[in-house]
Amino acid sequence: MAVIGGGVTGLGVARDLAQRGVTVALFEKGDLASGTSGRSHGLLHSGARYAVKDPVSASECAQENRILKKIASHVIEDTGGMFVAVEESDLEYERVFLDGCKKSGVRVEELSIKESLSREPYLNPNVVATYLVDDAAIDPFRLALANFLDAKSNNAQIFTYTPVRLLVEQGEVTGVRLIKSGENVHADIVVNATGAWAGEVCRQAGIKLEVKPNKGTLVVVSKRIVNTVLNRLRPPSDGDILVPHQTTMILGTTSTYVRTPDNLLPTRKEIKLIVMEEEKLVPLVRRLRVIRAFSGARPLLEGGSGREAARTFLVIDHDESGVKGLITVTGGKLTTYRLMAEKTADLVCAKLGVRAPCSTDKEELPEVPVKSTLERYEALEGELRDGKEVVCECEMVTRSEVEKAFNVLAARTLGDVKRRTRMGMGECQAQMCAYRVADLMAESFGFGADEALNMLSDFLREQWKISRVLEGSQKAQTEFFKTMYRLAGSLDG
Ligand SMILES: Cc1cc2nc3c(=O)[nH]c(=O)nc-3n(C[C@H](O)[C@H](O)[C@H](O)COP(=O)(O)OP(=O)(O)OC[C@H]3O[C@@H](n4cnc5c(N)ncnc54)[C@H](O)[C@@H]3O)c2cc1C
Repeated sequence: MAVIGGGVTGLGVARDLAQRGVTVALFEKGDLASGTSGRSHGLLHSGARYAVKDPVSASECAQENRILKKIASHVIEDTGGMFVAVEESDLEYERVFLDGCKKSGVRVEELSIKESLSREPYLNPNVVATYLVDDAAIDPFRLALANFLDAKSNNAQIFTYTPVRLLVEQGEVTGVRLIKSGENVHADIVVNATGAWAGEVCRQAGIKLEVKPNKGTLVVVSKRIVNTVLNRLRPPSDGDILVPHQTTMILGTTSTYVRTPDNLLPTRKEIKLIVMEEEKLVPLVRRLRVIRAFSGARPLLEGGSGREAARTFLVIDHDESGVKGLITVTGGKLTTYRLMAEKTADLVCAKLGVRAPCSTDKEELPEVPVKSTLERYEALEGELRDGKEVVCECEMVTRSEVEKAFNVLAARTLGDVKRRTRMGMGECQAQMCAYRVADLMAESFGFGADEALNMLSDFLREQWKISRVLEGSQKAQTEFFKTMYRLAGSLDG
């Protein structure tokens, strides 16, 4: 059977089916987690955020939060979360919030203001109420990689940079066509796990599915000054969540419907709005450097608009509306990806007559053979003593980890190395490490010099896209490096 989409949902489906002994091939048009999964806030929801407006999604998040903390603890930093009322008017939401959490089975505990401030000294000292929830930080890239490794270890075949379209013969979906080579791959069932692109793929079989891409922007600041996920205690709105990630913090988000999920870029207005709102939670945020901003597209389903739209998911058997051979799974959250995969795999297995039950809620995901930055900081002394060469000083990525990204984790470009190791995600934004990794690619991985240079150029062009909307010291820093690359390497990105 074939899966389209290498985000967490598609990889979760491939993992689940491969564990049950089904032969699976997965096709992703870009890199693993290069769609919405890699553009998320990386918040493992406790469910509290959806408790009032979307209790089904809240309960799903609460359940999956507990499961993922068991099976994927190595890609999660269990920071805990706080819901914080910063203005008297926020208290209007307090009662419905507590009722919603109770009804959806979301654990919530009141924290005194004194305790909150001692836990998070940079929190706004004027906060009027705080509640503790089970939120955590989850690394979407490492989550995707762990699913990839598990699926592969059970013989799933995973093809990146392989865009496909549905193969439709006499009104039935019979497989996929590889767009680049024109080759047809036949499959008993095709799972469309393309998230915000799901409507587009369905159209190829003449099916109308309304998945509305909803743009969200996130802002990365260079310092980590809180250790707990912070949420504003108010109805979900712009700029009301802050997630500590490794050495940085990610602030966000926004919500705007867009025509297509492709090529989304943050605007200066969105960045300003997010910083202005987050300042109410942590006033010092204003003085931190914005090193990056990015946007992704939520796959929202019909029912309400923007923030009101349900965050639950759909598994659709298109056989029921007359198109055999196709199942679509879309909507949901990163937090609920495993449950989405389980329900999809159950349906596939029922159709194929496979009786093996799902075990992804019990079996731990495999370790990813590159460290997180925090783990590297702990191991740093030993690494350096062993003479391991650090190629990215901001995130302490070693040469051997870059090699593993290529040899074990299917990296093919500099961007892939970044997603697998955090190379270039830190303060200098790859200005110092990009050329070193390009050099390594030419030296160790058989890329020709021209090919490595082109790849470096492509990577820098992508990195520098954001310069247009940055301001202040980060803009100056980026422009300075652009000039250096231009003068020293004739590279203009
Ligand atoms: C700004 C933002 C913040 C978010 N924050 C959170 C959060 O903190 N916590 C949380 O739980 N959820 C969060 N979400 C939601 C979450 O990220 C998504 O629900 C989830 O990642 C979707 O995963 P997916 O695998 O279904 O889709 P994707 O990750 O988008 O994967 C679909 C893949 O299909 C591929 N594809 C499309 N068409 C084709 C084709 N023709 N051929 C081959 N491949 C194709 C795409 O390239 C893509 O990689 C956030 C979303 C956004 C936008």
